Amino acid sequence: MPDLTAFAQSHIAARLRAAASRGALSHALIFSGDAARADAALYAAAGFECVAEGDRPCLQCTHCRKIMAGIHPDVIFVRDPEHKELSADVVRAMRRDAFIRPNEGERKVYIFEDCAALNERDQNILLKTVEEGPPYCAFLFCAENSAALLQTIRSRCVEIKLGSDGTSGQDDRRDDALTLCRLTAKGNAASRASFLVGLENSRCKREELGALFESARLICADALLTRYGAEVAPENAEIAAALGQRLSGERLMRVIDLLGTYRRHCDYNVGVGVTLGGFAAEWEEVLK
Ligand SMILES: [Zn+2]
Repeated sequence: MPDLTAFAQSHIAARLRAAASRGALSHALIFSGDAARADAALYAAAGFECVAEGDRPCLQCTHCRKIMAGIHPDVIFVRDPEHKELSADVVRAMRRDAFIRPNEGERKVYIFEDCAALNERDQNILLKTVEEGPPYCAFLFCAENSAALLQTIRSRCVEIKLGSDGTSGQDDRRDDALTLCRLTAKGNAASRASFLVGLENSRCKREELGALFESARLICADALLTRYGAEVAPENAEIAAALGQRLSGERLMRVIDLLGTYRRHCDYNVGVGVTLGGFAAEWEEVLK
């Protein structure tokens, strides 16, 4: 039985817990990086099914325990022990199964332990279900490198990169996202512009820019929650409060939308310079 108590101490677990506790965990997640992918996926699955009053997952309730024991009927590992890659039949069977309502839990969670076993055909079969499957379904993809997944699938998912110690990887661009948010809370237009130009000059990749936008979006979402007096992830509390003071709720919503739009832009083959230029202009427009 995997013991998730150690993983529960990590920065990533705190992020998952904050989202799960407020019912905001994305229905499609990619866990990439070199360690703790399986733990992270199980922890997220528990976050979906846990019925605790406070923080979720609690790792104590019946749902959490069944998940850790690998016997929860609604947490399904999509496997094909007979083949190196998942056969089309296995993926089609999963797709049919997705339309059967969950047994015991609120959600039906499908875990793909190694996306290297999902070939292009498999992913194309999956795509529509991930895109517009029943609302109770969730999909958790584990991949050493998320490039194993097609762009069409990746663009539907939130990617969580894990470092070798189960903490956040270096490349989720959280530090840059924090800088952008700090400059938004306190700085002026010139300081924001020079930060964005600096990013372009540092040859930030498209995927990294997408991660930066996503990270900033999560911080701004927490800022909005702060304005409503809700509790947010402890690591975001300070910056969320600062942003919440600087921007009205309506402005924060526009900022969150804008970051989501630009994150999606990064899924397509657009130039980093063009994206950053467009973003900088729209960002200042919203802050005016
Ligand atoms: Zn629980």
